[in-house]
Amino acid sequence: MVGVVVRSGREDVDQAVKAAHRAYELWRLTPAPRRGEILFKAAEILSRNKESLGRLETREMGKVLSEGLGDVQEAIDMGYYMAGEGRRLSGETVPSELPDKDMKSLRVPVGVFGLITPWNFPIAIPSWKVFPALICGNTVVLKPSSDTPVCATKFVEILVEAGLPKGVLNLVHGPGGEVGEYLASHPGVDAISFTGSFDTGKRLEGICGAIHRMIVTEMGGKNAIIVMDDANLDLAVEGAIWGGFGTTGQRCTAASRVVVHRKIYQKFIEKFRKRASRLKLGDGLQKETDVGPVINETQFNKILRYVEVGKKEGAKLILGGKACQKGNCAEGYFIEPTIFVNVTPEMRIAQEEIFGPVVSVIKAENLGDAIRIVNRTPYGLSSAIYTQDVNSSAVAERDLETGIVYINASTIGAEIQLPFGGIKHSGYGRKEAGGRGGALDTYSRWKVIYRDFSGRLQKAQIDK
Ligand code: NAP
Repeated sequence: MVGVVVRSGREDVDQAVKAAHRAYELWRLTPAPRRGEILFKAAEILSRNKESLGRLETREMGKVLSEGLGDVQEAIDMGYYMAGEGRRLSGETVPSELPDKDMKSLRVPVGVFGLITPWNFPIAIPSWKVFPALICGNTVVLKPSSDTPVCATKFVEILVEAGLPKGVLNLVHGPGGEVGEYLASHPGVDAISFTGSFDTGKRLEGICGAIHRMIVTEMGGKNAIIVMDDANLDLAVEGAIWGGFGTTGQRCTAASRVVVHRKIYQKFIEKFRKRASRLKLGDGLQKETDVGPVINETQFNKILRYVEVGKKEGAKLILGGKACQKGNCAEGYFIEPTIFVNVTPEMRIAQEEIFGPVVSVIKAENLGDAIRIVNRTPYGLSSAIYTQDVNSSAVAERDLETGIVYINASTIGAEIQLPFGGIKHSGYGRKEAGGRGGALDTYSRWKVIYRDFSGRLQKAQIDK
């Protein structure tokens, strides 16, 4: 057993929102550098507990230990980064066109933020939201995924240990359809930040839109790697392996499509298949394991249904496609790394997010064709191109319709110093991570101040 948590109900959400309201006045007036010191301490505690938290992630969610540790590291980095923002949080002062007048813009908190998070990055994603929300002076009610409540609880406990005043960060658990939805529509909440599937995000956008509530959604992806005929093929294969099967394909940025130039299509497939067939499935705590289980039975069945869809659509299955029954795998939700080739861009397996270890390989005639294929899905989160040609990389950088583009690297591996997020069905509203243009813009709003010290009536524009 990993842990036991309380199953919250509506009354708990009411209490959490009330507590967040009560704490808001104190927290918003706490100097931002002081808020930053608490975040810094939290990053220090996270850092000291990295190993045990990483292991907890593997036990609760299944990702391999190295990735669990990476997830915790992302939270540590985010903690230090946002702690530093406590001494910046800068706005602008610009000259007025009138004499004896000054003007500036200030970042101010939004109020009580409801944060709803998924299970695949059970510490990093809460940290992406909680740290910037807090540094900007908001108070928070966090509703993490029901699949990873213990990781979220540990994360919140660490912030409390770091000295966060009572009521500033509140945690509720429970089914999304009940607790999450109630939180999103709660009259005491000022804004919602959600990360999860498109269906849930769209539903929450509707709920918030109807009550004029700000919402930011980070949702799914159908990310693709382009492999050009001049690519370093071994590097591209490694990128496709890491992007397609890392975290068992359960990343919003997972490379679930590989679009390969026709001249090297066959060669790529052979190398990719050979390399993927060597991946070891099993317990993520064992050093030799490359790929862990999928998160739960629902997801397990959904992925296997997609394998059947792919076969029916006429794609050719060249690897995997079934549950792994070997050794301890038989006791869990393990699916073999799966590769489909001869996939055409309009097939469902090339259009819909499967969120498992399933990669579709698609043939492209040339760069333009490859870019068109990548862009032709409802999603727009991440894409990548492997090429040695600087001109091809420049065209891809310009024309790929995704929030993130990688050159000679896989579709995964974002760093927190830059904004993170997608377009189309992958995201709505502002961005996560990063400072300006990212998290700070999401979790604060601008207040603009004009001060006239001329002692007379001055009229902007009119007096000019
Ligand atoms: P999900 O089913 O949409 O759940 C996400 C969160 O929303 C969970 O806390 C869930 O609670 C809650 N929820 C579910 N239904 C709700 C409702 N009607 N109202 C309010 N909250 C509700 O997604 P998931 O399966 O956890 O995560 C996988 C998805 O997240 C994938 O699509 C992936 O691409 C996406 N994702 C996106 C990003 C990004 O940054 N773009 C990052 C990671 C993951 P319960 O757990 O209790 O159901």
